Amino acid sequence: MSIEIRDLTHIYNAGTPFARTALANIDLIINDGELVAIIGHTGSGKSTLVQHFNGLLRPTQGSVKVDGVDIGKKGVNLRDIRRKVGLVFQYPEHQLFEETVWDDVAFGPRNTGISGEELENRVRRALEAVDVDGSFAKRSPFELSGGEKRRVAIAGVLAMEPSIIVLDEPTAGLDPRGREDLLRQIQRLHKDRDLTVVFVSHNMAEVARLAQRLVVMDQGGIVMEDSPEDIFADGECLEAMGLGVPDMTLLMQRLLDRGWPLPASALTIEDAEEAIMAALAATKKAGVDTNA
Ligand code: ADP
Ligand code: MG
Repeated sequence: MSIEIRDLTHIYNAGTPFARTALANIDLIINDGELVAIIGHTGSGKSTLVQHFNGLLRPTQGSVKVDGVDIGKKGVNLRDIRRKVGLVFQYPEHQLFEETVWDDVAFGPRNTGISGEELENRVRRALEAVDVDGSFAKRSPFELSGGEKRRVAIAGVLAMEPSIIVLDEPTAGLDPRGREDLLRQIQRLHKDRDLTVVFVSHNMAEVARLAQRLVVMDQGGIVMEDSPEDIFADGECLEAMGLGVPDMTLLMQRLLDRGWPLPASALTIEDAEEAIMAALAATKKAGVDTNA
């Protein structure tokens, strides 16, 4: 399923002295099956943008199409749209409220009239997707750790079995282990369950590793859109927007500047290790002095 945004402008408190243009003239297409990351400094408009994907916010100007349907048109059932496009808010665990984990995850599908075995299956599948053990089902969500709560909240959206899942800063505030686990689960959802995934982040290292395409926002507009390799090649532009490049990319660029025969595109530790080992082997053979 795809999302197509045309000329989207959003003004908060339009027509009042507090009017604030949060998005201006955005064009963006999310293709079926993609894993896209939206990055940008705080206040650049990321959350405002993604809340248009399922009709939670209405455009001040422009249009949003989900699966070819303009969701701003009269007669469009927004509940259907929200079933297809699952939105996980920033700090979604703040919205857990049921007495048990199971009830919390079941809340959405139950509200759409699903019950019995189908409901059981959905809750089980959703908890499995985020590696929450079945034994947690009868526990109170409030007894869980921060990372576990976050995953239960994400399971609640997955239980609606959306075609697209949009996660707003899913790893914010988690410890390194919790981040790692969640990123792996997101990748798995994309691969194994055929979900189209959009995630918002301001962590360069994680978007570099996970995303197929990056959308960079600044001051309410999209300023770059490309593969992580090509975006990070333009480190100066990112720095100008208050965004760094991943440490590994910096290291590779410094070695390149010193004349090492390296590709400029290593984004992860694994890529960098491989490239450095290859460069070392090549320079040894050629008798080049890498201490130069
Ligand atoms: P991001 O998610 O990238 O941090 P947001 O979409 O939250 O950015 O915010 C974009 C701009 O809109 C910011 O200037 C922010 O202050 C403003 N904004 C966000 N939400 C509201 C709101 N409910 N009312 C008024 N202004 C808002
Ligand atoms: Mg935000």
